[in-house]
Amino acid sequence: MNRESPLIEKIQELKRARNAIILSHNYQLGEIQDIADFVGDSLELSQSAARTHADVIVFCGVHFMAETASILCPDKTVLLPDIHAGCPMADMVTAEALRRRKQELPGATVVTYINSSAEVKAESDYCCTSANAVKVIQSLDSTEQILFVPDQYLGAYIESRTGRKMVLWPGYCPTHLRILPQHIERLRQEYPQARVMVHPECRPEVAALADVVLSTGGMCRYARESEAQEIIVGTEMGLIHRLRKENPGKRFIPVSEQAICPRMKLITLEKVLWSLEEMSPLVKVPEETRLKAKRAVDRMLAIGR
Ligand code: SF4
Repeated sequence: MNRESPLIEKIQELKRARNAIILSHNYQLGEIQDIADFVGDSLELSQSAARTHADVIVFCGVHFMAETASILCPDKTVLLPDIHAGCPMADMVTAEALRRRKQELPGATVVTYINSSAEVKAESDYCCTSANAVKVIQSLDSTEQILFVPDQYLGAYIESRTGRKMVLWPGYCPTHLRILPQHIERLRQEYPQARVMVHPECRPEVAALADVVLSTGGMCRYARESEAQEIIVGTEMGLIHRLRKENPGKRFIPVSEQAICPRMKLITLEKVLWSLEEMSPLVKVPEETRLKAKRAVDRMLAIGR
C-alpha cells in the first residue's frame, strides 16, 4: 500500500457519496490523472462535462476550464480544488480590453481560444480549442475579418494552416514559450529515429521543426497510432505521464523539462479531498455572462473536433 492509498480511498468514498465525477486535464500531476474518471484536453473535458449525469464536477485543471464546465452545466456544482489555479495566458485579455479592440475593428468576427475567462467568451462570436481551431476558422466566410484572442502563436499556426490572415491578440503561454528551437535540434541529433510532435501554443520557429503540430488529445492519438517507437514531445511535462502509461513499449522524450505549468500543478490529492469534503471552492458563472458565453461555446461544439 503506498503513502497515498488512504487519501485516495477517502476521495473515492466521498466521490460516491456526493455523486461526483473527477475530470483531469492532461497537464495535471500523475497522481491526479490516475484518480480521475476522465483525462483529456480542453475540448474533450468540456464535452465530458456536457455529457455527465453526476451532480458534482471536480475539475482538476485551471480556472477557465472549471468556468467552461459551469457554462455548459449550470445545474451542477463545479469545484476547482485550488481557486488560485489560473491560466496566465487567459489573464492576458480582459472583457473590457476586448470590447475596446472590437470598437477599433467594427464588424470583425471574434474567435476566442477556450483559454479565456467566461466574460471574454461572452464578448466572442466563436470559441475554439487547439484541437478544432483550424476547423472553426475554415467554417467562417473568407471575406470576414477575424480577431483571434488571446494566443498569438496558436493564431499564427492557424494562419499557416488555412492561409487566412487574422488580427492576433498579443497573448501567449509562458510555459510553451520555454520550448526553444535549439532544444528540438539537439534532441533530433541525439534521437535520429524519433518523430517530433509539438503543441500549437509553441513559437512558430518550434512548430516549423516538428513532424506534427497537435493538441494534447491529438498527441495521445498520434502516440497510439504512429509506428514510431521514439517520440520527442513538445508540450507541458504532465502529458508525458499519460503517454508513458498508455504506450508502455514506446519511448517519450520531453523537449524541455522546464516546460512545467506551475498553476496546473497547484492541484494535489489533498486539495481534491478537501474540496469534496467542504464542497468548495465553487466556480459558478453568473447567468447573464453564462448565456452569452454559451453561444460561443455551443458554436464550437457544433463544429466538433
Ligand atoms: S500550460 Fe499555458 S495555456 Fe495551459 S494553463 Fe498553463 S499557462 Fe495556461
